[in-house]
Amino acid sequence: MKHRYLISILIATAAIRAHADPVAQPRLIVAISVDQFSADLFAEYRSLFTGGLKRLQSGVVFANGYQSHAATETCPGHSTILTGSRPARTGIIANEWIDQSVARPDKKVYCAEDPTVPGSSSSNYTVSAHFLKAQTLGDRLKAASPHSRMVAVAGKDRAAVMMGGHAMDQVWYWSGTGFVTLPGSTGAKPHAVETTNAAAAALIAKPAAMPLPPVCQTRAIAVPVAGHEVGVLQAAKAGDAAAFKVTLAFDRAITDLSIGLIRELRLGSGAAPDVLAIGLSATDYVGHAFGTEGAEMCAQVLGVDENVGRILQALDETHVPYVVVLTADHGGTDLPERNQMRGVADAARIDPALAPSRIGQQLAGEFGIKPPVLMAAQPFGDIWLARDVPDAMRDRVLDAARAQYLSHPQVAAVFTAAELRRMPAPTGPPDEWTLAERFRASFDPERSGDLLVALKPHITPIADARYSVATHGSAWNYDRRVPIIFYRPGTPGFEHPLPVETVDILPTLAGLIGLTIPPSEIDGHCIDLDPGSGNTCAR
Ligand SMILES: [Zn+2]
Repeated sequence: MKHRYLISILIATAAIRAHADPVAQPRLIVAISVDQFSADLFAEYRSLFTGGLKRLQSGVVFANGYQSHAATETCPGHSTILTGSRPARTGIIANEWIDQSVARPDKKVYCAEDPTVPGSSSSNYTVSAHFLKAQTLGDRLKAASPHSRMVAVAGKDRAAVMMGGHAMDQVWYWSGTGFVTLPGSTGAKPHAVETTNAAAAALIAKPAAMPLPPVCQTRAIAVPVAGHEVGVLQAAKAGDAAAFKVTLAFDRAITDLSIGLIRELRLGSGAAPDVLAIGLSATDYVGHAFGTEGAEMCAQVLGVDENVGRILQALDETHVPYVVVLTADHGGTDLPERNQMRGVADAARIDPALAPSRIGQQLAGEFGIKPPVLMAAQPFGDIWLARDVPDAMRDRVLDAARAQYLSHPQVAAVFTAAELRRMPAPTGPPDEWTLAERFRASFDPERSGDLLVALKPHITPIADARYSVATHGSAWNYDRRVPIIFYRPGTPGFEHPLPVETVDILPTLAGLIGLTIPPSEIDGHCIDLDPGSGNTCAR
């Protein structure tokens, strides 16, 4: 009896503590992912922000957050943000991977597709969360409170689907000419989609001038690369829908649609908390097309600042208690040509001799077997041994392939699937993980390659730079480090250099709304957002 009495006092005290918290529980959770917004870009520009990215800095700022895994691509990165799980658990090991069991000539599958839908192929895929093995915040919240809604808007289908999950109420992503939803979806199309698509079509037909902000003018220095120049902001051509994605106007359209849906669906005003995931994708397209350190990226990140400010303004107008988390799916680095000009002596483009098809050809000759011996979606990361290689030879061919990669001066390390399978999931601060641990964090024994190849730092895996000059995807920290910022209006914030992970976002948000998640189901840990003696993880 005594014990029961004590327990009821403790429960009563806990209830009073929860009531004494001056901040209302959020009714709307907004997760913003800025594609390729590295911790380095945040550091470089944070003092210049005047809009939403300035305001968010009054919240809880982790300027040194991590997408901790090696496969720093868009799909794996987005799969961590609202699942609390690293790609080893979400199953999203890359944007594209090789699955030799599919009836497709190229054996390639896309992370956000369902390859079992008849007629789909790796280039004409059916968008789906089929490959996502984890539950998102939306999935978990809707299971706990069926009135909750999960809405996702992004420039890229994979960003929307990986943040949204398996039970989205609304999902909209750019198809190339307008925002569309999952194939086969029924239900009325919100007016906001119609108006945003009409405005985007007008902008593609007749692009508005995008003047270079004055603070970006010192960054406008032309850098020659592969027969063209980057570094100086160029006007978009009329009628070019592909070029539209590489302009500020693209993120503005994603923002317009997000704001339209906040208002039209009255997000946060329902019977249970709602989630809105927003993927601002243009920063990534700008990074790939022009690199990270020119006038183009300067104008782009200042545009993100403006768009995030517009989203916050729209949220304020709802008078709904909200929390915003802003992060990125991966970081990035500049093109090797400009890196070379700026003191990065080891910056270079990948040697075309490292193409898996070329190494496979050599092995085919050496062992007297039929090519392709090696298969891959890209010249680094996951490499698969072709199914046709006879069982009796597989170990020897794999050893020879590994030796071939390791003999190349641009290769830092090669791991085998067998080695990674034997390793436990990494623990401890992600800035101190070994290279093998980084690869282990995005290794799925069912899906990953037989060999995992790490290029040396600043080796850009784009041999032909005519269309895309820079990229990400490595296990090095410039691709892993991203800002992670939590913002609740009216709540004091703090800044900490702690290397938290994007997988910590889900349990942290769950703590704010009192959603229970079994720790064994995820990799992340709740971060206490209270700067004082309170604890937002202990509701
Ligand atoms: Zn990305």
